[in-house]
Amino acid sequence: MEYVDIQNIKFDEKGLVPAIVQEGRSGKVLMMAYMNEESLKKTLETGRTWFYSRSRQKLWNKGEESGHFQDVQAIAVDCDADTLLITVNQTGAACHTGHKSCFYRGLAGKDETSYAGSLSMMADLQDEIKEKRVHPTEKSYTAYLLQTGIDKIGKKIGEEGAEVIIAAKNADPVAGEQNEEADNLRLEVCKESADLLYHLAVLWEDTGVTVNDVMTILEGRSHVKGNKKTVGHQDKTF
Ligand code: AMP
Ligand code: ZN
Ligand code: ZN
Ligand code: ZN
Repeated sequence: MEYVDIQNIKFDEKGLVPAIVQEGRSGKVLMMAYMNEESLKKTLETGRTWFYSRSRQKLWNKGEESGHFQDVQAIAVDCDADTLLITVNQTGAACHTGHKSCFYRGLAGKDETSYAGSLSMMADLQDEIKEKRVHPTEKSYTAYLLQTGIDKIGKKIGEEGAEVIIAAKNADPVAGEQNEEADNLRLEVCKESADLLYHLAVLWEDTGVTVNDVMTILEGRSHVKGNKKTVGHQDKTF
């Protein structure tokens, strides 16, 4: 791990450095604000984000009015030390409009976000599942599963797991082929995998585990990240 000291941060002519704030559990970009040296030091001391408000010309502790504080998990400095990336655990919404992220609008017909294919979507999925646990509705299948409990959820995971296997066996012979039939067989693998992941997320919610806990285990085993932490005695690196 390589570290940069505060005196080596390149504050601009006004003494400010842009800080991009990202939610750790989802990877979602939440907001961008400026820090001066004092606010950066306060952030390091308190473990919560402090910024410099250019409009109000004073330090600002994110959440001081809204209660939507940001607990700092990590701070990265970019290559030329003129931008910070702060990873946080966000309470409530980061944006003063009430949106989770300030980046909730798209530009001129462009979608504001595209993260299909990223597992960070699982964090949002679990948020939706939690909402159904806390506020169950009659028609909700998720609420039904959570009320019925682990036997039903476990049975569904077994079934969906088997369906993934069947779909994969069907798609395997045409793996490299580019034609409609092969596309459809791969689509079945995707759909069954989505079913399995959804039911896994319900099981996590039922047992009080978060997708972040699961990803932390994977991250600890990751060779790409270079830190082969082992978590728990049964945990093997792959
Ligand atoms: P808060 O820090 O959430 O208590 O909000 C206090 C004030 O800071 C708000 O009234 C806004 O003026 C400003 N503010 C809060 N969050 C943001 C943000 N994400 N971007 C810009 N200004 C913000
Ligand atoms: Zn830079
Ligand atoms: Zn905002
Ligand atoms: Zn299925």
